[in-house]
Amino acid sequence: MNIKKIKPFNKPIYITRPLLPKLGNVYKKIRIIWSSKQLTNFGYQHKELEKKLKKFLKVKNISLFCNGTAALESACRVLKLSGEVITTPFTFPATLHALYWNDIKPVFCDIEKDTFNLDPSKIEALITSKTTAIMPVHVFGNPCAVKKIKRIANAHKLKVVYDAAHAFGVKVNGIPIGNFGDISMFSFHATKVFHSIEGGCLTFKNKDLKNKSDLVKNFGIKNEEEIVMPGTNAKMNEIQAAIGILNLEILEGEIKRRRFLTNLYRNRLGKIPGITVMKDIPGVRHNYCYFPILINKNKYGLSRDGVYNGLKKFNVFARKYFYPLCSHFNWYKSLPSSNPKNLSVAEKIAKEVLCLPLFGSLKSEEVEKICDILENPKTLL
Ligand SMILES: *Cc1c(COP(=O)(O)O)cnc(C)c1O
Repeated sequence: MNIKKIKPFNKPIYITRPLLPKLGNVYKKIRIIWSSKQLTNFGYQHKELEKKLKKFLKVKNISLFCNGTAALESACRVLKLSGEVITTPFTFPATLHALYWNDIKPVFCDIEKDTFNLDPSKIEALITSKTTAIMPVHVFGNPCAVKKIKRIANAHKLKVVYDAAHAFGVKVNGIPIGNFGDISMFSFHATKVFHSIEGGCLTFKNKDLKNKSDLVKNFGIKNEEEIVMPGTNAKMNEIQAAIGILNLEILEGEIKRRRFLTNLYRNRLGKIPGITVMKDIPGVRHNYCYFPILINKNKYGLSRDGVYNGLKKFNVFARKYFYPLCSHFNWYKSLPSSNPKNLSVAEKIAKEVLCLPLFGSLKSEEVEKICDILENPKTLL
């Protein structure tokens, strides 16, 4: 086979670029904030964003945070989680860090090969008298097995906290994703499909949990004279909230564009031996937050790391989400549940996965060229 001569991109193509509202609209918002002289502590923008997100995510209760990690930590606190929590090694480190800072021992459970999410058939064997909760992650926006997880949690009286950092706007059979479990956490970091530069939220059915979260994120201050719990400072400020409001207005267009680019990638890369692309799941409304592929070294002829390094030569910066697994961290690797033998699917996927650039302002020609580069592994050498 002839190897096409392909020139590198003349500017770097990153894994993502943030959604950016029109600067003129940002100025207008900032002018309003400046004249209000309220920069944080639940001002007008904060109230507006909370109202709009509650409607958009179709959830009963919501509480905004300065970032998703602080939100997840607070979720553990308001649920008084302790002892052991069953979670996935195939996630961003923040999922585990939220447990760590609550003195909770993670128990790693293997994942499913098609969704990369917690494998519900392997959860029950990991439950002990110390288990207080399950913390699954909707990895790459693919919904977890929410019904099965609910059944297990109910049978064993466990709480469920979803790390829904990737799943903003996702729906399962018409049900918006923030309605599953006791609490769901969304991240509004600039790299996420919807963002407020930094930011995040918790969603809950239970109003009491929302009230507690609102207290926890503001030092536990109920009023000037009553401090009702040891809280922290994890409030979202007015500028963050304003950016969130503006981004929410342009989100649908961004998701539509990402879906188009995702299909472009899938049509081309799905035909290459040794490359596996994910498919849309029937009944799921996806948000196209990432474009992960799996690279089988033997069938493709080059390893994932070979592809990752090869793409760099063309000025394409893919990312190994999620490698290394969280069970490989120094402070977790000696846990019995970190044993690679029990995490064989996660271990395999962590070696094969690569996320390719995907964002609304990425051009179709750029996607086509990335596919041209990947078409023949020899191009990457
Ligand atoms: C981004 C992310 C977080 C952390 O959210 P921040 O808002 O950056 O603190 C947590 N979990 C997962 C899976 C994430 O991707």
